Amino acid sequence: MKYYNLKDHLEKINFREATVKGQGKGKGLFFPENIPQFDKEFIQNLHQYSNEEIAYKCLKDFVGDEIPSEILKEIVAETVDFEIPLVKISEQISILELFHGPTLAFKDIGARFMSRCLSYFLKGQHKKVTVLVATSGDTGGAVAHGFYKIPQINVVILYPKSRVSPVQEKQLTALGENISALEVNGSFDDCQNLVKQAFSDEEINNQLFLTSANSINVARWLPQQIYYLIALKQWFQHHKEEPVICVPSGNFGNICAGLLTHFRGLPASHFIAACNANQVVPDYFKTQKYQPQKAVATLSNAMDVGDPSNFVRILELFGHQFDDLKDKISSYSIDDDKTMNMITEVYEKYGYILEPHSAVAFAAMAQYLKENPGQKGYILGTAHPVKFPDAVEKAIHTQIEIPDSLNELMKKEKKTVEINSDFEELRRFLLHKI
Ligand SMILES: *Cc1c(COP(=O)(O)O)cnc(C)c1O
Repeated sequence: MKYYNLKDHLEKINFREATVKGQGKGKGLFFPENIPQFDKEFIQNLHQYSNEEIAYKCLKDFVGDEIPSEILKEIVAETVDFEIPLVKISEQISILELFHGPTLAFKDIGARFMSRCLSYFLKGQHKKVTVLVATSGDTGGAVAHGFYKIPQINVVILYPKSRVSPVQEKQLTALGENISALEVNGSFDDCQNLVKQAFSDEEINNQLFLTSANSINVARWLPQQIYYLIALKQWFQHHKEEPVICVPSGNFGNICAGLLTHFRGLPASHFIAACNANQVVPDYFKTQKYQPQKAVATLSNAMDVGDPSNFVRILELFGHQFDDLKDKISSYSIDDDKTMNMITEVYEKYGYILEPHSAVAFAAMAQYLKENPGQKGYILGTAHPVKFPDAVEKAIHTQIEIPDSLNELMKKEKKTVEINSDFEELRRFLLHKI
């Protein structure tokens, strides 16, 4: 399998190069040259396959010969070695709980797969790579955990001081070893700007071989397909009709992976992109004009994105045909008030605790089903409620239970280096401290 740069179709590389490089020339995203189809037999008999087998079959065509099949099997087994249950909330709406991994976030799946692929590709080379990421909270923990103690890889995470939740902060800062956490006196946008400056600094790049670990990287984006199959396996045990699938969306990597599986033959009657007040994509569906905006802060902060990086991949999948896109996807913007009300309502009616991101998805799904009665579907539960305790406890007027694994984590010591939002400080750290 080859991948081409969406900004320069002549730049074509394989999975290995795309994983190590992250982005192509002109910051273009890589996209698979063809869309391998699932066997009908496989889709109809998903219940006969283990999650590991599903993951392997899902990804092997994308990896090609770049990783031997025995090793790829080990990598995918580690990627999906936790529960991914599909849980019924109401008669019409179920939730795929993607938050039972090590950092209680769906990003664990992509981060684990990517870290292990990168590590395999670096073996035998005398090269160390530095993964540099800015996080508003959830990405950092999953990346830190996914890359923890992986040889030849250092991770540097920038996060805005006092703006991530206590659990998120511990997940970033308690590991140590090859993980450095930089506490920035500034906002998430400041962190992101610092990271961007580092990526365009020649000396830093030459010395550290910087790479990113967000869903721009194919090795983090593609494994997100796996759980749409794992969901379907469970869905068809209780339903005959195809599901509506609703994804809480920020950078649109997650929903784009779902759409990719649909183009490969995964049954789904419709997709919903659920957004918070950051409504570039809902506006696009109304006006057919894509207009990036400055991100606004919301309760579902992992979705505070004003220019979703993966949207170009979705356009490519649909061959830039607006009508086809509109037929298959609906998009809604849900504000913070509605989000809070949804958490309260779902808890009171069904006894289920949503966190802000999945509440945005639940509200969007409810709205779609109201406009299109008679259908059923599932939302993607992208984080555990304990990661957003302030909003959740306020909405349900009850304390939430902390899982044992977190109690252990909360006892650990926080290790950070504090820096100002000043590129020279970051530069000094990168060139002299790691
Ligand atoms: C990252 C994240 C999202 C958004 O996923 P994208 O792939 O960026 O659209 C949604 N919910 C949570 C909890 C996240 O961490």
